[in-house]
Amino acid sequence: MKILVINAGSSSLKFQLIDMDNESVIAKGLVERIGTVDPTTDLTYSWGDQKIKEKQLKKAKTHAEAMSVVLDVLVGKDCTASEYDANDGKPHLVGIGVIGDLKEIGAVGHRVLHGGEKFTASCLIDEACIAAIEENIPLGPLHNPANLMGIRACQEVLPNVPQVAVFDTAFHQTMPPKAFRYAIPNEYYTDLHIRKYGFHGTSHRYIAARSQELLNLPKGNKVIICHLGNGSSLSACVDGKCVDTSMGITPLDGLVMGTRCGTLDPAVVEFICNRKNMTPTEVLTMMNKKSGLLGLAGDSDMRNVTARYDAGEADAKLAIEMWAYTLKKYIGSFAAAMGGVDAIIFTAGIGENHTRAREWAVEGLDFMGVKIDHEKNVNARGEAKISADDSKVQVWVIPTDEELAIARDTLALATGKEIK
Ligand code: ADP
Repeated sequence: MKILVINAGSSSLKFQLIDMDNESVIAKGLVERIGTVDPTTDLTYSWGDQKIKEKQLKKAKTHAEAMSVVLDVLVGKDCTASEYDANDGKPHLVGIGVIGDLKEIGAVGHRVLHGGEKFTASCLIDEACIAAIEENIPLGPLHNPANLMGIRACQEVLPNVPQVAVFDTAFHQTMPPKAFRYAIPNEYYTDLHIRKYGFHGTSHRYIAARSQELLNLPKGNKVIICHLGNGSSLSACVDGKCVDTSMGITPLDGLVMGTRCGTLDPAVVEFICNRKNMTPTEVLTMMNKKSGLLGLAGDSDMRNVTARYDAGEADAKLAIEMWAYTLKKYIGSFAAAMGGVDAIIFTAGIGENHTRAREWAVEGLDFMGVKIDHEKNVNARGEAKISADDSKVQVWVIPTDEELAIARDTLALATGKEIK
C-alpha cells in the first residue's frame, strides 16, 4: 500500500509518499506560503535523485488548493496547463507521475501536534477525533488549527481514503504523575489540564522501539534519547516506555534550542513585561523564536554557530557551552531519576550529523560510565554504536524517521491492525 504522510503548518504543507511494501520514499516535498499575502506559493519536491524547486506557482489560497497541487504533481497531471502558469507566462510545474492514479494512495497519515491527555496512541480520523483535536487547540494554538486544515484539505480532495492522526504528544502519555505534574495548586491541572505533555513523540517512539531491537538490552533497561535538531528534547525510557521528557505543556521547556530558550524561571516573563512594556504573548514569542542559539550567538543553525566558535567568537563559545551544559544536566538528571542508564542515543539533525556536538554533550560523563570512542564517533554513519568498548553505558547514533513512523501507524490502522 502507498501512504501519503502530511505535516501541515499554518502556511506550509510537507508531504511524503511512501511505498509500504518496502518502506521506501517514492516522493516528498514542501508547499510554502499557502494563504499568505505573498502573490505566489513555493513548491519544492523530489523523487529518486531529482529535485525541483518552483518558486512562482499561482497562489494556493488554502491548504485544500495546496493539496490539489501536490496530488497533481504526484499523478503527473499536465501541470503545464495555464492554471499553473508562473508569472513569466512559461509553463512551469513538472508533474512527476510517480503514481498512475490517486486510487493508489491507500491512506493518509497526519502529524498532529497536541493530543492532550485524550490521545495515548494514533487513531483513525472521524468526527469525534476531529472534535478532540479541536478541543486541544488551547494547548497547541498555532499547530493544531494548521493540522486540522491539513486533515480537512485531504478529506476534501481524497474523500474516500482512510486518514489517521499521529500525535506528537502520545508517546509521553506513559509518564507517571510525579513526572508530568507541575507543583502548582491541583485545580490548574483538573480545570485547565496544565501539565507536562512532551513533544517529538513520534521520533522518540521510533528510536525507543529501535533501541529495543538493536541494543540487546536487559529487561528493565533504561535509555535516554536525545532528539537534537532545531527543536530539541530528551526522553527517559524504561523498556522503551517514556517515564520523563524535557519539554512541557509547550515545546518551549527544556534544552537550549535553535531559537527557544528552554527552561528558565517563569518570573522572567512578568519582569520583562514590566520593564519593556511587552505583553506575555510578545515575551513568549521572543522566547520561542528569538532565543536559544539565535539569541545568544546570532544564528540558530548549529553548524554556523560552530563555525563562529572555531573563529574565536565569544558569543558563540558561550552559546555552545550553555547548549552542552544544559543537555548534560538533563542527561544526568534523567539517569538519576531512573536510577541508572544503559544507553544514550543521539538523533535528529544535530544528533545524527554533528560529531563534535555529541562529544560536547557527554564530555565529563565518564564518572557515570559514559565514554565515547572518538574514531567511532567521527566515522559514524547511519545506525552506529559510538561508545568505547569499556564504556558501561552504550552510546549510539540512530537516525530518526518520523514520516516512516507515521506511515507505519497509518498502515496498521487503515488495515484494521493494532498499533505496536
Ligand atoms: P528541525 O527541528 O527543524 O527538524 P533538524 O532535525 O533538521 O531540525 O536539525 C537542524 C539542526 O541540525 C541545525 O542546527 C543544523 O545545524 C544541524 N545539522 C544538520 N545537518 C548537519 C550536519 N551535516 N552537520 C552538523 N550539523 C547539522
